[in-house]
Amino acid sequence: MQADTVIHARWIIPVEPASVTLEHHALVIHQGRIIDLLPSGQAQAQYQATKTEHLPDHALLPGFINSHTHAAMSLLRGIADDLPLMDWLQNHIWPLEQQWMGEEFVKDGTDLAIAEMLLGGTTCFNDMYFFPNITAQQAIAHGIRARIGLIVFDFPTIWAENSDAYINKALALYEELRGQPLITTTFAPHAPYTVSDAPLQKVLELSQKLQTPIHIHVHETRHEVEQALADSGKRPLQRLQELGLLSPALLAVHMTQLTDAEIALLAETGVHIVHCPESNLKLASGFCPVGQCLAAGINVALGTDGAASNNDLDMLGEMRTAALLAKAVADDASAVPAMAALQMATINGAKALGLDQEIGSLVVGKAADVIAIDLNHLETQPIYCPISQIVYAASRQQVTDVWVAGKHLLKQRQLTTLDIAELKIKIGSWQQRLSA
Ligand SMILES: [Zn+2]
Repeated sequence: MQADTVIHARWIIPVEPASVTLEHHALVIHQGRIIDLLPSGQAQAQYQATKTEHLPDHALLPGFINSHTHAAMSLLRGIADDLPLMDWLQNHIWPLEQQWMGEEFVKDGTDLAIAEMLLGGTTCFNDMYFFPNITAQQAIAHGIRARIGLIVFDFPTIWAENSDAYINKALALYEELRGQPLITTTFAPHAPYTVSDAPLQKVLELSQKLQTPIHIHVHETRHEVEQALADSGKRPLQRLQELGLLSPALLAVHMTQLTDAEIALLAETGVHIVHCPESNLKLASGFCPVGQCLAAGINVALGTDGAASNNDLDMLGEMRTAALLAKAVADDASAVPAMAALQMATINGAKALGLDQEIGSLVVGKAADVIAIDLNHLETQPIYCPISQIVYAASRQQVTDVWVAGKHLLKQRQLTTLDIAELKIKIGSWQQRLSA
């Protein structure tokens, strides 16, 4: 049979079924989809491939899904460190954004983020930022998959003057992006403390009508919860519940403040949590009790947040931090084992984004979003268990190849759709402007 690409690998970790590692197998890709997964010998006998890849020291796995990003904020990486969330936002990030935000900022910042994500094995990102039209345009240009957040705030920014204007722009962009093969959208009201009830209700109504998820920061810090209690007598999650937002269409990012009753409520309503451990650690925001949430049956995905609060977009690093932190928070070394961390970075992300029929595991029929990690480095030897090496020991420089929908976007560590030299010049120019 004819196929576009056959990839022979030392190990294939399909993620579904869980904890399976296939040895000396091949993944067969045709027209952007996985059409077979079988022993290498059989693949050689059965398939005539246009391209054949041999990866004798590599593990092949589904691409990482970064379930919470602000891609363009990569241009603000390292500009204001070591501050708590509200001081960081109000006195540093928001004023800088007010001064510099525009199409060029978002274009160049997004390119930097996409380059970094592809180099680290991320094949899909779930974004929330101003000028989402530009983020989408750059994702399309470089071939990465993305769920683009249609941002909503109460207050005016260069993107829109009030919540009605944000929502009108969101609807226009939703229409414009329909039919894009790799791009889908979410409604992205920023947070309970920046979006009032009326626009949240409007977003909910549109989300139901258009079958589009809602992506929002919730319970990021204790301060957020205390402030809401002081202002309204309600915790933000209770307010969202009363507005009718808690459902499997909701992606609640951060969730560092959770009572046992709230965990039960999230499980019951099917809300997805997007855990961003490194951003939470860096801003001293608090800890999401991930072990307890997973045990309660909540789907927990993983995100880096923006590079201004992380400061990298490294999903391998994020998985390791998530696994380690969960053990410390639960006081239990068996909380979030390596496989659970890998699921959070792949299939759980796909479920949270509503894309699990399409991506998140190497299963026949799904899109060929695939990465290869070279384990033949001293740092990942000996190899008793490839999953353990990937989660606990590998670094992102070991990601050698990335395919999105069968397209080879990273080839032996070379990006095929981005010019790094040109990108560095643009970033240098932003560095000068932003630090002036
Ligand atoms: Zn965020």
